[in-house]
Amino acid sequence: MSNKPDFNFSFQIIHWQKAHGRHDFPWQNTRDPYAIWLSEIMLQQTRVATVIPYYQRFLQCYPDIKSLSLASLDDVLALWSGLGYYSRGRNLHKSADLIVKNHGGKFPSESNSIKKLPGIGRSTAAAIQVFAFGKHHAILDGNVKRILTRYFGAKGYLGEKKLDTLLWKKAEELLPENKVNGDIEAYSQGLMDLGSTICTRNKPKCAVCPIHLKCAALQKNKVGEFPAARPRKLLLVKETTMLMIIRRKEILLERRPSKGIWGGLWCLPEMPVNEDISLYCYQKFGLKIKQLAHMPSVEHSFTHFKLRIYPKSMLADSKNLATNKGEQEWIPLFRVLELGIPAPVRILLNLNFINE
Ligand code: SF4
Repeated sequence: MSNKPDFNFSFQIIHWQKAHGRHDFPWQNTRDPYAIWLSEIMLQQTRVATVIPYYQRFLQCYPDIKSLSLASLDDVLALWSGLGYYSRGRNLHKSADLIVKNHGGKFPSESNSIKKLPGIGRSTAAAIQVFAFGKHHAILDGNVKRILTRYFGAKGYLGEKKLDTLLWKKAEELLPENKVNGDIEAYSQGLMDLGSTICTRNKPKCAVCPIHLKCAALQKNKVGEFPAARPRKLLLVKETTMLMIIRRKEILLERRPSKGIWGGLWCLPEMPVNEDISLYCYQKFGLKIKQLAHMPSVEHSFTHFKLRIYPKSMLADSKNLATNKGEQEWIPLFRVLELGIPAPVRILLNLNFINE
């Protein structure tokens, strides 16, 4: 690595952010740690344009920590529905409860207390401290990792422990030395903006980058090689059958266990592929089914595997369920999308019933 940390890095980022960065997101121009925390959690793994309407709806329903802590998890997950990575919604809800219990409903300002809240890692904790409290902490989200890997010409792929350790060290060293009011916010926002708009994963716009004069990857004319590609792992494919059981404009849904994939969400009943559907429905629900139809399969990607779903639609002979433990319910089709349901199930329902 040829580049050494220097004062100019933060100076360039701050000035670039003030002139060319983004200033009008709904979570900017506030010091409310709750609003900032919410935006940081929603922005994990999700694009800004997708987040904005969810963020606005969420704040309208739950304008502060107390109102979130009083909400039911069902209602929170319903608001989260379609945003994905539902553990984020569950963790927000749990954290609000912890903040009320342990901090009198006031969002903590100290690193250790923030990091103890579920779903908040080192970079998210730092971002909250920067934007809500003006504290000098280094952020290192995926975008910033990409910038620093290129700037220093650092070897390794994102997520690799050795590279991560190095990048945290560099991120700390590069923090602005002058603790001028507002600079740490502009600096941190500048890194996020640079990663989103200039130093993008593909086709970075190096000619207009404020740090291009010292960028090691650019100097070597090897921008495309940084960061290195993650070693490829073959994604496991899992298969499941999802049952769309209808009875008089109502559909049978099951609530998922609180732990695991789609925890706490309402989902179509699932069964192993290749089993007899009529027998399964009779044995599990006590329902006789008719007009069984096989719909086209859909695929949904998770981080570590792909789920191939075989949807089947059918009519049930009655609404009486043999084993109703409160986790299965007949839901009117007109209100099914108001519940917290996973994205592929939402797609299936939309495709097959909602527009009828
Ligand atoms: S010069 Fe190019 S590769 Fe280097 S930090 Fe700027 S945009 Fe990224």
